[in-house]
Amino acid sequence: MRLVLLLGLAAIGVYLLFRLLGDVADPQSERFLQWWQGDEAQRQALITTQRERCPGAPFVLPADGFIGLLYGDPRAPYSAAAPHQGIDIFSPGEAGVTPVYAAYDGAITREAGWRSALIQRVPDDPLQPGRTIWLYYAHMADRDGNSFIEPAFPPGVSELFVPQGTLLGYTGDYNGDSLRDIWVHLHFSIVLDDGRGGYTNELEFANTVDPSPYLGMSLHHACATDLPACTADPTCAP
Ligand SMILES: [Zn+2]
Repeated sequence: MRLVLLLGLAAIGVYLLFRLLGDVADPQSERFLQWWQGDEAQRQALITTQRERCPGAPFVLPADGFIGLLYGDPRAPYSAAAPHQGIDIFSPGEAGVTPVYAAYDGAITREAGWRSALIQRVPDDPLQPGRTIWLYYAHMADRDGNSFIEPAFPPGVSELFVPQGTLLGYTGDYNGDSLRDIWVHLHFSIVLDDGRGGYTNELEFANTVDPSPYLGMSLHHACATDLPACTADPTCAP
């Protein structure tokens, strides 16, 4: 009985070791380490700068930075069962410095209690005409919850139309009451409509859409190999 238990524990240990090695050998994880531990030059090498739309793509990247966590990403704090619902664009500087722009034309809403987030209604999905989608931008506040959102979008603002490229605010590291350091970044996701004039829960992966074809970049964890950049073929069959 004890032998079976020991063998079981050993198998779990070997499995965990291989998982760890697998994660470290993954180029996406290597880049994450480089961003975390690297010097200024190493960090700069990871940054995607793309202020124009990619050829053929409807959206513009909402912020420049290191696109470190991708759509469908199962790495911590996410998992295979609950993967990342959007993309995380990490900023090289301090909170409140890197600008965030509207990815597309649409109507901005900021719920009364939102310190760091905005959501933008796009009434006609450019890639699936006829359906409404919502663009969610989060973490635009400092750790204490001081907002970096532009004054044009105060809490409670609803359905304020802005064109693509409008300055919305600046990236931050606000994470609610959590003490976990999330580094300065923008979380950007495309959220499905609830069919009743509202958006679905943006925390549920099933309620979100792969942003790759909208941005013209390969941003799905299962597809991406290199650092994100404009590509004519941004999607794959995961
Ligand atoms: Zn995120």
